Amino acid sequence: MDDALADLRARLSPVTGTEMCSVASAAGRVLATPVQAARAHPPLPNTAVDGYGFAGGRPAGPHTLPLIAAVAAAGAAPDTVVPEGHAIRILTGAALPSGVDTVVLQEVVRVGDRSVRLTGPIKPGANAQARREGGTEGQTLAEPGRRLTPADLGLLSATGVSDVAVRRPLRVAILSTGDELVEAGQSAAPGQIYDANRPMLLAQVAALGHQPLDMGRVPDDRAALRATLDRAAAEADVILTSGGASAGDADHVSALLQDSGSMALWRVAIKPGRPLALGMWQGTPVFGLPGNPVAALVCTLVFAAPALSVLAGGDWITPQGYDLPAAFEKRKKAGRREFLRARVRDGRVEVFASEGSGRISGLSWAEGLVELPDAALHVQPGDPVRYIPWSGFMGG
Ligand code: AMP
Ligand code: MG
Repeated sequence: MDDALADLRARLSPVTGTEMCSVASAAGRVLATPVQAARAHPPLPNTAVDGYGFAGGRPAGPHTLPLIAAVAAAGAAPDTVVPEGHAIRILTGAALPSGVDTVVLQEVVRVGDRSVRLTGPIKPGANAQARREGGTEGQTLAEPGRRLTPADLGLLSATGVSDVAVRRPLRVAILSTGDELVEAGQSAAPGQIYDANRPMLLAQVAALGHQPLDMGRVPDDRAALRATLDRAAAEADVILTSGGASAGDADHVSALLQDSGSMALWRVAIKPGRPLALGMWQGTPVFGLPGNPVAALVCTLVFAAPALSVLAGGDWITPQGYDLPAAFEKRKKAGRREFLRARVRDGRVEVFASEGSGRISGLSWAEGLVELPDAALHVQPGDPVRYIPWSGFMGG
């Protein structure tokens, strides 16, 4: 699995163009160029609390400072001067007036008639936020490849950035293959099954921040598949198929990629997930995912998600998991990576009762996967195992 991922990573590079986008609508978009702060944050030293401001370095012990008549409020120009030995009423967010470097909380002083009495110890600089504490003008805030989060929009806006260069969304064509498939809502003859992969993969690709394109279902017919791949290659940047990726008679995805001369069929040592057919169709990368829904989703998260991220101009995704105690027992053989449908309850990792890869109910039950290493292993309850929540496969 690691070799397959390293190979993918080495071969792929961004395919999407760039466009300008307002910061307000940039959540989930991939940055195309570095972003610099347009202004320092905060632009002036200010107060983090409501209270009374004065010059710090006061003598210890209780004493009284006369209050000047002004009030320093957020948004006002800091044009008041507070003479040494005086204090000013000051409100959260106000720039510190000249002569003020320290603010005491209103709750800890006694306010008299035009004076304020300090009793507790005074720490010079208390409750004041230095200018540029959050960043200086021109400072790089985010690098290309970053998928912007809501917090990023806050940071960029705080420093005056209103527009950013982002990657155009990656268009991902998704199609299902198989004579047995019918659409949910249609009547199904005995022997037919409903197409589960297409809705699942369309939604997963959208959740990864890409633009899914629904190419429908294709029967196990080489000419029909060829025509659909042609259309997908014309309309999309990358193609995800499910089913028909193996080497059997009805496995037309791998057969066509083979014919086109670009096929790399990987019998990757993972469970579930074999086989994965990779190739190019008219210059467009194709991920031939297994038809089994559990394997299709695992392969999408493990192989396609990081690859799509790079194609979209983003960073390669290394799944982020946590070592947590197992609530289960499990023996595995050496020689392949295993992923178990899992979730966390009370700080322990539970796995779905049945490992049968056809058990799509287990996918829905799960909130992530347990990744067991290639080596032979006997997990016992309480042993640490690597749990990767769904979000851990999504990057950012
Ligand atoms: P295949 O990889 O085409 O041999 O399919 C493997 C298994 O997954 C078969 O049992 C298929 O019926 C099933 N399968 C393939 N595609 C889908 C799909 N889109 N939805 C649900 N099951 C599927
Ligand atoms: Mg099939």
